[in-house]
Amino acid sequence: MSNPTHDHGLDVKNIFITLKILILFFCVIPVTQAIFLASSSDEILDFNLAKMVTFLIIISLVTLFWFVINYTFKNYRVRAVIEILVMHSIAVLCYVSTGTAASSYKFIFALIVLIYTMELGLKIGFLLSGVSGLTIFIGDLLTCTQAHRSSHFQADIILTATFVLVAYIVGFYVDKDRKLINNLKESVNRDSLTGLFNHRYFHQYMREIITQETNEQLYLFMADIDYFKVYNDTLGHQKGDRVLKKIAALALENIPEGGLVFRYGGEEFTFLIPAKSTNDAINIANRIRISISEHRFEGEEMMPGHDLTISIGVAERRGASDTVADWIERADNALYKAKFFRKNRVQLYSSVFERFDHLDQIDGDERIISIKTLLSVINSRDRYTYNHTDRVVHYCEIFSKYAKLSEADSRTLLYGAYLHDIGKINVSQEILISEKPLTDEQWAEMKKHPSDGADIVQKIKNFDTVADIVRQHHEKFNGMGYPLGLKGEELNPLSRVLTLADSFDAMTAKRPYQKVKTFEEAFVEIRRCKGTQFDPQLAEIFIAAIKDTYC
Ligand code: GH3
Ligand code: MG
Ligand code: MG
Repeated sequence: MSNPTHDHGLDVKNIFITLKILILFFCVIPVTQAIFLASSSDEILDFNLAKMVTFLIIISLVTLFWFVINYTFKNYRVRAVIEILVMHSIAVLCYVSTGTAASSYKFIFALIVLIYTMELGLKIGFLLSGVSGLTIFIGDLLTCTQAHRSSHFQADIILTATFVLVAYIVGFYVDKDRKLINNLKESVNRDSLTGLFNHRYFHQYMREIITQETNEQLYLFMADIDYFKVYNDTLGHQKGDRVLKKIAALALENIPEGGLVFRYGGEEFTFLIPAKSTNDAINIANRIRISISEHRFEGEEMMPGHDLTISIGVAERRGASDTVADWIERADNALYKAKFFRKNRVQLYSSVFERFDHLDQIDGDERIISIKTLLSVINSRDRYTYNHTDRVVHYCEIFSKYAKLSEADSRTLLYGAYLHDIGKINVSQEILISEKPLTDEQWAEMKKHPSDGADIVQKIKNFDTVADIVRQHHEKFNGMGYPLGLKGEELNPLSRVLTLADSFDAMTAKRPYQKVKTFEEAFVEIRRCKGTQFDPQLAEIFIAAIKDTYC
C-alpha cells in the first residue's frame, strides 16, 4: 500500500524543482541575449544559430547542475545552502548582464525569495529578501550616476519592501501549516491516554527498523499487565486508566537512551530496546518489571499476590531474513510463556523446536529433518499440541538438570518429549480441536497416538529407546494405562518422567472442558496419584525440580 504522506511530499518536491529550473531559464534568456548584444557580428542568421546553440548549452548545464546538487549532497541543509548560493549568484549575473540598476529582471530576486520561503519557511524568506535588497542597493551604488541614484533608490526600496512582504505573508502561512501538519502527525502517532506512541506507529516503525542497520542489537519487549481485568472489575475503569498512565511513565523512566515505548493495545505495551547483549536486554526488562511491582498502586492489595505486576516477553531481532510478523510472534510467544509460568516475569524467547535444530546438528542424523517436518505439520493442524510439546520439553529439561541425568539419558528424554505426540498426526482434526468431551469411538482413535508415534520414531536410526518412551508415555505405574498395560519397573524410567511432565502440563494448561490447576494444586494431584499413575520416587523429584525453578 502506498503512503499518502510520502506521495504528497514527493509531489511538492517535484513542484519546487520545476519552479527552480524555470527561474534559472528566466535568468538564462537575458544572460544569453546580453552575450550576443555585446558581440559585433552582423550576420543575422549566424547570430541566431549561435545564440540558439549557446542557449541550449546553458540550459543543459543548468539542468545538469540540478542533478549534481540533488544527488551529491544528501544532507538537506548543506544542499539547501549550496543551492541558494548558486541561485542567488545566477540571479546576480542576470541582474548585472541586463543593466544592473536599470535592469528589468530584478523580479527574479522576488521569485527566488518566494520559492525558498515556500520551501524553507519565514526565517529563510526574511534572510533572502534582505540579501536580495542589499544586492540591488549595492548595484545601484556602483553603477548609477549621481543624478539617477535617488530615483533608483526609491524604486528599489519599494521592491525590497515587496520582497519582505512576500516573505512575511508566504512564510507566515508556510510555518503555520508546517506546525499544524507536525502536530497532526504527532497526534496520529500518539495514544491519547498514556501519551505513548500508539499501535499504528509501532507497526510503521517496526517496518522501518526491521532491515535498518544499528550499532547495537535490538530487542522487542512485549508486556502485559497481570490480572488487569480483576483490577478494573474491583476498582473501576477510571482507576484502571490511572494505572495505565503510571505504568507508561515508569516504563519511560526505566528504558535506556534510544529505547522506545508504545501502547500496543488495551493493557499491552511494546518496547524497542537497543542493548549490547541478551543479558543486558533481560536486565532492562527486569528493571521495568521491578519498578512496576515496587510502585504502590491504589487498591493493589485486592490483586492476586497483593501486587500489581506485569509480565514481559523478550525477543531479539534476527538477521536479514527476519520479518516484522515473525519478530512480534516471537515476543508474543515469550510473553505467553511468562504469563504461563506464574506471571510477574521476564521471559526470553526460546523455542524447543529451534533447540531441536541444535540437537539435530549434534546427532547429525538427516532423518530428524523429516521428523521436524512432521512436528511443523502438527503445529499447523493443532496449535495446542505445539505449545504443549514446547512446555513438556521445558519441564523435562528442568527435571534433567535437577536430577543430574547423564548427557545420553537427558538427550533421549528430550527427544522423547519432542516426539511424544507425533502420533497425533493420524488423529483427525475434528478430534484434536474438539471442544466437546470425546465419544468412545473418538477416544479409541486418540488412544492410538502413542503406538503410532512410536512406529514413526522407530524408523530413525538408534532411536529405539526414544520410540519406547513415546510408546509408553500413557502407561500407568500400576499397569492400568495404554497401549500395553505395562507397570512399575517394566516401564522405561525416562518414560515415567515424561508421563509426569505430560500430565503436569495437562493439569496446569488451559484446555476446553477442564479447570486449570495452579502449580500447587497440580502437585497435590500428582501426590494423590503416586503409585497408581506415577512412579512415587520420580514424582517427588519432579515436584522438587519444578518448585526449585518456579516457586
Ligand atoms: P492476564 O494476567 O492473563 O494478562 O489477565 P488480564 O486480566 O490482565 O487480561 P485480560 O485480557 O483478561 O483483560 C485485559 C483487561 O484490560 C480487560 C480490560 O478491562 C482492560 N483494559 C483494556 N484496555 C483498557 C483501558 O484503556 N483502560 C482500562 N481501565 N482498562 C483497560
Ligand atoms: Mg492482554
Ligand atoms: Mg493482562
